[in-house]
Amino acid sequence: MFDALAERLEDAWKKLRGQDKITPSNIQDALQEVRRALLSADVNLQVVKNFIADVEKAAVGAEVISGVNPGQQFIKIVYDELVKVMGESNVPLAQAKTVPTVILMAGLQGTGKTTATAKLALYLRKENRSCLMVATDVYRPAAIDQLITLGKQIEVPVFELGSQANPVDIATQGLAKAKEMGMDTVIIDTAGRLQIDEEMMVELARIKKAVNPNDTLLVVDAMTGQEAANLSRTFHEQIGITGAILTKLDGDTRGGAALSVRQISGQPIKFIGVGEKVEALQPFYPERMASRILNMGDVLTLVEKAQEEIDIADVEKMQSKIMTAQFDFNDFLKQMRLMKNMGSFGSILKMIPGMNKLSNLDIEKGETELKKTEAMISSMTLEERQNPDLLAKSPSRRRRIAKGSGHVETEVGKLVTNFTRMRGMMQQMGQGNMPGMGGMPGM
Ligand code: GDP
Repeated sequence: MFDALAERLEDAWKKLRGQDKITPSNIQDALQEVRRALLSADVNLQVVKNFIADVEKAAVGAEVISGVNPGQQFIKIVYDELVKVMGESNVPLAQAKTVPTVILMAGLQGTGKTTATAKLALYLRKENRSCLMVATDVYRPAAIDQLITLGKQIEVPVFELGSQANPVDIATQGLAKAKEMGMDTVIIDTAGRLQIDEEMMVELARIKKAVNPNDTLLVVDAMTGQEAANLSRTFHEQIGITGAILTKLDGDTRGGAALSVRQISGQPIKFIGVGEKVEALQPFYPERMASRILNMGDVLTLVEKAQEEIDIADVEKMQSKIMTAQFDFNDFLKQMRLMKNMGSFGSILKMIPGMNKLSNLDIEKGETELKKTEAMISSMTLEERQNPDLLAKSPSRRRRIAKGSGHVETEVGKLVTNFTRMRGMMQQMGQGNMPGMGGMPGM
């Protein structure tokens, strides 16, 4: 699903490689790549234009998050916009105050409407809701039989009056039957045509008027891209739909329909079909879909965690301390704990592209070093933490800390030496960039 789109979007992040922050000029190439990716995914042009404008606005105004690079930050911004375009959150099925809830299924022939009717009935049955399916497609002779066969397979009853009856009558009687049977939900399958025609719309409108559905769901085929979005707009304008079921997403590598339906029709995608089997139906979650499209779940988690944990004011205070060499063991401990809050050392490293090849042994070693350092700092008095020179001068203080933290004096000595050296380097660099802090875990 969406492989082609994910691959093309990757080129967009690459455009920001080596940059230290997102600026109005360096973002242009990346935006151009996103635009290309969306257009070749068959996303509606107006949707693409709005999308790019929103991403640009969000990216240029974004605060720099420490711990993530501009490419990663950009991925998160694109992700947020993808979620927004698809409607933010899942829109569940409507439920009637008094049973039965009525669901009307609409759509062109071959989109998977009859299959979706059965899939939905099975989905509801699994939620302990009883269903009656109603077969009103009298034009395609096999349609009624198809629904009966599916009904047997999923053990859901089907109401039908053969292919000579009037579809509006079948729907009305089907609804009455569902009431009589005390069913929780009735799902009405309707006739599809190869293309929209007047007759089809009129009949659908009549059925809708007769049964007054809680949900009118348009079944659209994801493989038809933008066309699926346009179809949902037409159906909404002419009939009034409350949502769409996007089928055959398992075969769609482009993603255009998933991204356009909401924006073009104003109605949400409620379910997706992901296979021919009756079980292959899932509620539509914009967040999950956006993660699938980007194929970058780990980077997203990393950025979200960094955003949650890092207080910008705190970071600025820390930076000024570093520059004036007032950085002490307390600050160091705080930095280490911040990292720990974000998850284990190993899981954070593994989220960073390229770092996932680190062996578990390397990670374990890093984590052990961090724990040791934390234990030693915890055994220092407040005075010692603020003034590491006290420790450099006094072997008895180092011995006390070693004993308190379960280490040997030379280890405490090494920590103090490394820390002092690092602080000296910071001082020298003043306002410059920091190279790697060799020897100090957590920096
Ligand atoms: P209708 O004419 O709209 O009622 O369409 P059908 O329900 O008869 O489905 C048409 C074809 O699409 C059938 O071969 C289905 O098995 C297939 N189909 C339906 N939904 C899906 C889906 O989500 N994924 C895939 N791969 N095939 C589907």
